[in-house]
Amino acid sequence: MIRIDTVNPPGNELAVARYLQAIFEAENIETQLFEPVPERAAFVARIRGDGSRRPVMIMAHMDVVGVERANWSVDPFGAEIRDGYLYGRGAIDDKGMLAANLETMLLLKRHVVDAGGTLSRDIIFVANSDEEAGGVFGMDWLVDNHRELIDAEFVLNEGGRTRIVGGTPLYVAVQNTEKVPHHVTVRARGPGGHAAVPLPGNAVYRLGRALAAIGNHQEPVRLTSTTKEFFARLAKVWPDASERAAMEDVTSADERRVLHGARTLGAILVFDAVLRTGISATVLSGGIRSNVIPTEATALLNIRTLPGESIDAVVGRLQNAIGDASVELTITNRGEDAPVSDFTSPMFSAIAGAAKELAPGMVTVPYMSTGASDSARLRQLGMQAFGILPFPMDQDDEDRMHGNDERIPLASLDFGTRLIFGAVYRVAR
Ligand SMILES: [Zn+2]
Repeated sequence: MIRIDTVNPPGNELAVARYLQAIFEAENIETQLFEPVPERAAFVARIRGDGSRRPVMIMAHMDVVGVERANWSVDPFGAEIRDGYLYGRGAIDDKGMLAANLETMLLLKRHVVDAGGTLSRDIIFVANSDEEAGGVFGMDWLVDNHRELIDAEFVLNEGGRTRIVGGTPLYVAVQNTEKVPHHVTVRARGPGGHAAVPLPGNAVYRLGRALAAIGNHQEPVRLTSTTKEFFARLAKVWPDASERAAMEDVTSADERRVLHGARTLGAILVFDAVLRTGISATVLSGGIRSNVIPTEATALLNIRTLPGESIDAVVGRLQNAIGDASVELTITNRGEDAPVSDFTSPMFSAIAGAAKELAPGMVTVPYMSTGASDSARLRQLGMQAFGILPFPMDQDDEDRMHGNDERIPLASLDFGTRLIFGAVYRVAR
C-alpha cells in the first residue's frame, strides 16, 4: 500500500481501495466500494456476527501527506525494509493501521468464521479518503451518504499512542476524547493619520498590549475524568520520581495538591496542554503602508477548549485580562463539543486486556488528544470512538510521522496487529 502513491492532494486513493477489495473478495468477505469523485474512494467491508450486539468498526485512511524527497534517505514510496524498520510515507500514518486492520479481518474470517465460530457483532472495516485535507471526500462523505453502513457501537480509529520510553514499552494511550478547536479574532481600533504625527490611540500598539496580556494569561487548571485517570494510571509506570509524584498530586481531591502537581507537570508543554484550555496567537494583520497609521489591526487566536468548557467564558476571561473595552474579541469559528467515549466500556477493557497479554508491564490509559480528529464527528453521532496508534514507538520514530524517513519498526507492526486483533476479537466473541 505504501508503494501506491496516495499523496493528498490529489489522493488517488481508489487504487488502494481496489487492492483491498481484491483481497477481501478472494476471502469471500462482503465489500462495498464507492467513488465520491473520480479516483477517490470510500471502501467498506463487513464480516457478519450473530447480531446479538451492535457492530464494531475499525477504520483507517488511505491518503498520506506529501514528501520532501530530497530529505529522504530512501524512496518514500519504495516500502524498503532496512535494519528492522519498514520505511515509507504512511508507514505510521495511516497505512500501518490500515494493514493491521486488514490483517485483523483476514484472521477473523479464516480462524473464527470459517472455523465454524461465531461473532456477537458485525465487524465493519472502513478505508477512507481525504483525511489529511479535511475529509470532505472521506469521513464526511461516508457519514452524509452511507450512514447506515457505518452504524457501530464502538469504533477504533487513529489518534492514540503506544509509547516506548528509554527503550521500555511503557503505555498504550487510548484517545477517548479531544479538545475542541475554535477561532477568535482580536480587533483593535484607533485613530488613523499620517505617521509623522504619533497618535496615542494607535491601533497597532493597542493590539500589541492586548496580545501581551493574552500571552501572560493562563486558563485555570481543570482535571476531567479522563485526564485524572490518565495521570493516575501513568503514575504507576512513569520513570521520573518528581513527575510521578506530580501525577499523583493532580489526581488528588485536595485542591492545593492539584495546583502543586500542575505546576510541575505544566513545565512539560504537552502535559500543560491537557491540564487547561490552550490559547495560541497565529496570524497578525494591520496597516497598508509604512507612513500611514491604520485605524484597525487584528490577530487570530486558535483556542482549544477542554471538553465541556464554554468558549464564551474563555473569551470573557480574555476580555478581562486585556482590560481595554475598545479591543473587540469575536468568535469567528465555533467548535462543537462531542460526548466522551467511556473508558470503562467493554471496548476500552478489550484494548487494555489485549495489551496486557502482549506486554504485561504496560498500562493502558485513557487520553484526551489536544489535536482534533474524525472521531469527534462519530462521537456526536452516538458511536464510542477510540483513537489508538497500536505500534510501540519511541519519540524519535513517532516524530517522523508527517516528516522525513517515516518508518515503523517491524516488531511494532507485529505488536500493533496483534493488539488490534486481540481487542476486536475480545469485544466481539
Ligand atoms: Zn492519520
